[in-house]
Amino acid sequence: MQNLRHTLLRILQNSGLSALPSPCALCGIEGASAICDACYSQFTQSTSARCHCCAIELEQHHGSQRCGACLKSPPQFERTVVATTYAAPNDQLLIALKFLHQLALAPVLASALRDAALREIELPMPELICPVPLSLQRLSERGFNQSLEIAKPFAAQLGVKLMPRLLMRTRHTLAQSSLHPDQRHKNIRRAFAVDSSAMDAVKDRHIGVVDDVMTTGTTLDEIAGTLKRFGAKRITNFVVARTPLH
Ligand SMILES: [Zn+2]
Ligand SMILES: [Zn+2]
Repeated sequence: MQNLRHTLLRILQNSGLSALPSPCALCGIEGASAICDACYSQFTQSTSARCHCCAIELEQHHGSQRCGACLKSPPQFERTVVATTYAAPNDQLLIALKFLHQLALAPVLASALRDAALREIELPMPELICPVPLSLQRLSERGFNQSLEIAKPFAAQLGVKLMPRLLMRTRHTLAQSSLHPDQRHKNIRRAFAVDSSAMDAVKDRHIGVVDDVMTTGTTLDEIAGTLKRFGAKRITNFVVARTPLH
């Protein structure tokens, strides 16, 4: 972990990302906020059309609001909103938040997510928002849950109630990013539950689930399935960055 941290620090120092919050986290220009206006608009620039359900980029002239995978085998969630693509240089902000503990970036990422949500046409707003939880082991290693840090200002900006402990991890799992896509479902299966104090809050509700990065969507699908087993009516994911099509 220390080695990874040092490598990341070196990469980020070379890209001008080392001294937050006064210089812009992406271009290094001195300013009053964690990211300058030009980089913020670059970060939030909407690109191509995305699948309404899983937010993967759609090929031009796709002709449907859903991608082929979601049409064939619909996930448990109804909708996913993303602010940006997980690619350089924008991925640096998420790496800096998660691995360099640059918590000043969380409200910036939350604003980008809010802007993305407000840009969506006919997006029903959730009645409750919760973050993807970390296992206790990972929480104690990192010291904070990056999804919760984003969810706090995001929920406040949208005026939607945040329930930080609505979901809990029932067990520790391997990092999904370390596994082959075929192994991810097994790794995460039944890894979440609704906290007993939140069961009444979930029933018949539209829940918004906040995460920092979405790759295959396996974790969010498992969470949506869990929430639905506990009676949730509709799930919308709000994710800062989605990995691009390969
Ligand atoms: Zn900048
Ligand atoms: Zn899709």
